[in-house]
Amino acid sequence: MSFTLAIVGRPNVGKSTLFNRLVGRRLALVDDQPGVTRDLREGDARLGDLRFIVIDSAGLELAEDDSLQGRMRRLTERAVEEADICLFLIDARAGVTPADEIFADILRRKNAHVIVAANKAEGSAGDAGAIEAWGLGLGEPIRISAEHGEGLDDLYTALRPLADEFAEKHAANTPEVDVEIEEDSEEEGVFRMPTAAKPLQLAVIGRPNAGKSTLINKILGEDRLLTGPEAGITRDAISVTTEFMGTPMRIWDTAGMRKKGKINDKLEKLSVADGLRAVRFAEVVVVLLDVNIPFETQDLRIADLAETEGRAVIVAANKWDLEEDKPEKLKELRENFEKSLPQLRGAPLVTVSAKTGKGLDRLHNAIIRAYEVWNRRISTAKLNMWLQAMTEAHPPPAPGGRRIKLRYMTQAKTRPPGFVIMATHTDKIPESYGRYLVNGLRADFDMPGTPIRIFFRDQG
Ligand code: GDP
Ligand code: GDP
Repeated sequence: MSFTLAIVGRPNVGKSTLFNRLVGRRLALVDDQPGVTRDLREGDARLGDLRFIVIDSAGLELAEDDSLQGRMRRLTERAVEEADICLFLIDARAGVTPADEIFADILRRKNAHVIVAANKAEGSAGDAGAIEAWGLGLGEPIRISAEHGEGLDDLYTALRPLADEFAEKHAANTPEVDVEIEEDSEEEGVFRMPTAAKPLQLAVIGRPNAGKSTLINKILGEDRLLTGPEAGITRDAISVTTEFMGTPMRIWDTAGMRKKGKINDKLEKLSVADGLRAVRFAEVVVVLLDVNIPFETQDLRIADLAETEGRAVIVAANKWDLEEDKPEKLKELRENFEKSLPQLRGAPLVTVSAKTGKGLDRLHNAIIRAYEVWNRRISTAKLNMWLQAMTEAHPPPAPGGRRIKLRYMTQAKTRPPGFVIMATHTDKIPESYGRYLVNGLRADFDMPGTPIRIFFRDQG
C-alpha cells in the first residue's frame, strides 16, 4: 500500500458512499439520516493504478457526550494522525456550511495534506457549492459525485502526485506505475465521445410548428440502429435513444413530439414549460426556428433558458427548403441572431430541412462540436499566460486610484466551462471587463456557443 487516505467531513456529505465506491464493495450502510450507526471502517481502495488504504470517518461521529464541535475536532484530528492524506468532502448542493468551516480550520492548523472535494456535484445543482469551496482556502476543489461515480478521474489526478510523495516516504512496496499522467494532460482525457452506454443527451426545442417532430422522426427514420424499449412509442416517450449518423444520442421529448389535435391557447405556455424540462436533462440543446418566423419572443425565451441552464446551444433554422434567396436570408438570420441573443455570441447557426433531410449532416457535426467545447478543459498554465496577455493589452480599471490585480486563473469546472480568477477588489471589477475576458476566452480558445462563466474571488 502506498498511502492512507481518510475521508473527512461533516455528517451526510457522502463519505460512506465514496468509501464504498473506492473499496468497490457494498460494505457500508448508507442512509439519508445523519448519524446512522456505523463502525469506523478501513478498506483496500483502488483508483486507476493507485492502491491505498481508505478510512471512512463516518462512524466517529457517534461520541454523543460532547458538543458537535468537540466531536468533529477529535475525529478530524484522529483522521489526520492516522492518514497521509485527508479527502475533505463538502456537499456541493448545500454549499459551504459553518460546520465545514470548522473542519477547514482544523485541517489548516494540523497542516494536513488536504484535497477538497465538492460531492453531489452531478448536474448543475452543485455549481455554486463547488465554486464556494474555493473559499475554504484549501486549494482547488474537485467536483465529484460519489453516487454516480463522476469526477473520479479528477480525484485520481489530485491524488497522483501526493501518492508518489508518500510512496517514496514509505519506500516499501511501491506499486508499478503503468499509467502516465502528463503535465498538460488536463486537456486530454476529459472529453469522451458519446458511447452506447453514455449517449449524448440532446433536446430539440422550439415553438409549436417549428418542425421538431419532423426533425426527430427524420433522425429516427434514417437510422436503422434504433434501440431501447421506448423506440416503439416515440410519440409518447419522454426520451428516445438512437444513433444519429453513428453517434449514440438520447433525444428528449418536448411538446412538439406529443400527439397533436389538442391545440388550444395554452399550447404556447405548455411548450415553454416542456422545453424547460427537456433542457434540464440535456447536454446539448438545439433551438429549432421556423425560418419564416425566426427569433420570435418564444424562441428567444427558450434559447435564453438553455443558456441560463448552462447547456451547449445550437440554433437551427428549419424549413430551409422553402427559402429562395438563401445567401441573403442567411445574412439576415445571422444579423438578427447577434442582435437578439448576444449571450449566445458565436453559437453555431445551421440551416436544415427536416422535411428533406438536407443539412442534417451539418446539424450532426455542430452538435458533436458543441458537445466537445462544452466539455473543454484548458490547462492552468495556458490560462495564466493568457490572463497576463489580456491584462497587459487592456488593464482593468483603477477605481479611485486603486489598481485591480488579476492574479491567478484556473478552470474550476467543465460542462459548461467555468473559470475562477483570484483578484483584488473584485467588487470593483466592471461587468464590461468580465465580458472582455469571456469574449477573449471564446476567441482565443475557440469556444463558440457554450455558456462561459467567470467567477472572481477576492484575495485581499
Ligand atoms: P456520510 O455519512 O456523511 O458519509 O454520507 P453518506 O455516504 O451516508 O451519504 C449521505 C446521503 O447523501 C445519502 O442519502 C447518499 O445517498 C447521498 N449521497 C452521497 N453521495 C451523493 C452524490 O454524489 N450525489 C447525491 N445526489 N447524493 C449523494
Ligand atoms: P413541431 O410542432 O415543432 O413538432 O412541428 P412539426 O414537426 O409538427 O411541423 C409543423 C409543420 O411544418 C408540419 O406541417 C411539417 O410538415 C412542416 N415542416 C417541418 N419541417 C419542415 C421543413 O423542413 N420544410 C418544410 N417545407 N416544412 C416543414
